[in-house]
Amino acid sequence: MTKRVAFITGAGSGIGREIAKKLASRNMRVIVADINSQNADETVTLIEREGHEAKSVYCDVTNLDSVKKAVEDSVGHYKKIDVLVNNAGWDKVEPFLKSDPSTWKRLIDINLLGQIHTCKEILPLMIENNYGKVVNIASDAARVGSSGEAVYSAAKGGVIAFTKTIAREMARYKLNINCIAPGPADTPLFQEIGSYNEGITGALVKAIPFRRLAQPEDIAGAVAYFVSDEAGYVTGQTLSVNGGLTMA
Ligand code: NAD
Repeated sequence: MTKRVAFITGAGSGIGREIAKKLASRNMRVIVADINSQNADETVTLIEREGHEAKSVYCDVTNLDSVKKAVEDSVGHYKKIDVLVNNAGWDKVEPFLKSDPSTWKRLIDINLLGQIHTCKEILPLMIENNYGKVVNIASDAARVGSSGEAVYSAAKGGVIAFTKTIAREMARYKLNINCIAPGPADTPLFQEIGSYNEGITGALVKAIPFRRLAQPEDIAGAVAYFVSDEAGYVTGQTLSVNGGLTMA
């Protein structure tokens, strides 16, 4: 059997980078799809240094033409896509009443529409190949609400609902479509949020039963489970990975 090929968005940084490294270590060829080509190339270097295979592609998930081109380049190189991890995301924490329409649009375009774009392009390839696993990265903010993240939560709630419906539509093709809802995770994105929200890290660590933020590896481990053969009968689910911050 040829190696599985995984297309991972936002894999140039944070959680996406760790997902890319984890899936490469599980014998997959990895496509590092990101809008930041320099960071994407760095992820590829890290993976190759461990003796695994990876390729970077420029991909702006907010733009369907860019996604089409990235998918074409990837299939041109590796012939197929077996696994899609929709990880690219962005957040800005501020009171809803102080937020601007341009911020709402950016939040929805990156966090929700981006995942819709990649699914539109990649699900048909999976159907054709009779194999496919999709993992969509949402957020616990979508499940329980989170002050300062109204539109982000709405976009991530959309991701959870989208996951369930495509899981139903794709079940006839035996594709597995699942969702992960991380809690606060120690990444460049979270560090940026911390830079303009004093005290946020300490307050969260106090509230998390495991008394620490998630590390990107914690999320990557859950992705590895969803794309494994062991999860073959699991579809349409949302798994929180959050040190017990919320329980449902
Ligand atoms: P990060 O900023 O470290 O990494 C995000 C990556 O996405 C970057 O490489 C960035 O270049 C890329 N990206 C941004 N816009 C893009 C676009 N239009 N097209 C393609 N790539 C784009 O962030 P992270 O914390 O690793 O977040 C990863 C995912 O986890 C996001 O979906 C985020 O919403 C989610 N999440 C993060 C946390 C957290 O606390 N860090 C919590 C819950 C959910």
